[in-house]
This record gives sequence, C-alpha cells and structure tokens, in this order.
Amino acid sequence: MIIIRKILDMQKMIKEYRQKGMSIGFVPTMGFLHEGHISLMNSARPQNDIVVASIFVNPLQFGPNEDFDSYPRDIVRDEKMASDAQVDILFYPDVNEMYNSAMSTTVVVNERVNVLCGKSRPGHFDGVATVLTKLFNIVNPDNVYFGMKDAQQVAVVDGLIKDFNFPINLVPIKTVREANGLAKSSRNVRLTKLEKQQAPYLYKSLQLAKERIKLGEKDPHTIIALITDYIDTHTDGNIDYVELYSYPKLTALSKISGNIIIAIAVKFTEVRLIDNITMEVCKEE
Ligand code: AMP
Repeated sequence: MIIIRKILDMQKMIKEYRQKGMSIGFVPTMGFLHEGHISLMNSARPQNDIVVASIFVNPLQFGPNEDFDSYPRDIVRDEKMASDAQVDILFYPDVNEMYNSAMSTTVVVNERVNVLCGKSRPGHFDGVATVLTKLFNIVNPDNVYFGMKDAQQVAVVDGLIKDFNFPINLVPIKTVREANGLAKSSRNVRLTKLEKQQAPYLYKSLQLAKERIKLGEKDPHTIIALITDYIDTHTDGNIDYVELYSYPKLTALSKISGNIIIAIAVKFTEVRLIDNITMEVCKEE
C-alpha cells in the first residue's frame, strides 16, 4: 500500500492509472478504522483495479461545540488495517494540505438537510459536500463507497453527484454491527462502560419499531413515541432526535408507506450516536 500526503502526488498517480485504463474505487473515511470501514473496502476491492481510501478528519463538517479535537485518531493502526484490506493507496492529507487558504468557494446543500443530522448539526452537510467535492476531484474515482449507517449522507452524496455531474457511481453499503446490534462507529470508544451496555438498545428500539410496522402500524407518531419511550427506559442517553421519513427523499409521511427510514440520534456523556433502519412498507391497495 502506498501512502500519499500531497494532493498533486495523488492526482499525478491517478492520472497514470487512468491512462492505463484502470478503474478506481474510493472509500472516504475519517479514520480510526473499524469493520464498517473495512466492509466498504472489501466491497470496493473486487469491483475496481485500484482501491483508494482516504483518512481526513474534516474540520468543515464539525460545529464549534462538536468533537473535532477529540475525534479518535490512530494512523499507525489504520495503515495496518487498510493494508490488510488490500487498499492500494491511502490518501492521508493534513488540514493545511486540504485547506491551505480560506476557501473562496464552498458547497451548500439545499435539500434533505432540514431534518435529522442536518437539522441538529447546522452546516454539517455543507462541510461534507465541500470536502467530498475536493476529494472527488483529487481521486477522480469511478465508484465511491458509503455506509448506510450515515443514510442521510448517502442521500446527500447522491444529490451532490447528480447535481455536479460527477461521473461517479455511488455504492451504498449496509451497516456493520457488533454481535449485540450496536452499529460500529469510531466514536464507540468514547462510551463509558455502562453506556456500552446501554447503546445496543438503540438498534433494539429500531427493530421493535420495524416489527410493529410489519404488524400493520401506519402512524409515524406512534412509532416515534414507541422508540422514544424504549430508549428513555433502557438508556441514560438524551435523545437528540427520533424521526421517520420517506427514503431517500427524506420527506415527512402522514402514513407509513413505501421506502422509509427510521433514524435516531442519542447523546451520551461524551459521544452522540446515530443509527437507522430503512425498510420497504407495502402500499395499501
Ligand atoms: P467515517 O469515518 O465515520 O466518516 O465513515 C466513513 C465511511 O464509513 C462512511 O461512508 C460511513 O457511513 C461508513 N461507515 C461508518 N460506520 C459504518 C458501519 N458501522 N457500517 C458500514 N459503514 C460504516
């Protein structure tokens, strides 16, 4: 595996691969890799000649009171994991390399951001879309791999790719979980011992909701109340949101029907966890 820290070196290398007609798969990450990231890399490996992964904790997508400084980092471990996953190139720029002067142009996301994390983290998706626009121009990939753990991000990236005509195929990958159901996340290391025992109840609440919908529940408010009550009963976390929308458009539903997402965010002492499920609900005749 080659490690590249400079944008121009990355662009030069990609140009050479492209001239040879090789396909490029790209997995953008913020590092502190876990099996969720590895599953994206494993999906990219057989589908592309060259697999590029990036590690960049992007300051633009963190709010002033969020965890940019304390976001977990371990590049030595990440290098080994990416290399074991047969990544060809690890792009690992520093903040100065990516933003060496104040940005005179940034990307603003207009749709799908007045809900979920877009609402509770204002500006977050503008930061995501801006860094991805840069990374897409640097890596010039054919295929990009994103986890459904961040389902709103998948929907936003889909819009970005279409709106800006990136010739890129977006591949969503299903959420990788611990045996107890907890969605793998770099931030899980910052849960206390007790919170680690409570966190699996997030996914349990979503499964409970899914069962209820399968049994015929059609009212979004009933489902939201069920999840809220379950999380309040089983964890000490503070609910940031519990929401139910159509997916991928993320529009409100008066009745549960069609492709939907149920998404939650819960704040624990030092970390805010998110999770979601998507499902297709048969339309009534
Ligand atoms: P992050 O490093 O948190 O920005 O994540 C980088 C990519 O890995 C994003 O596309 C995430 O959605 C994806 N990802 C993070 N956690 C998981 C998981 N548990 N399962 C699948 N993909 C994940």
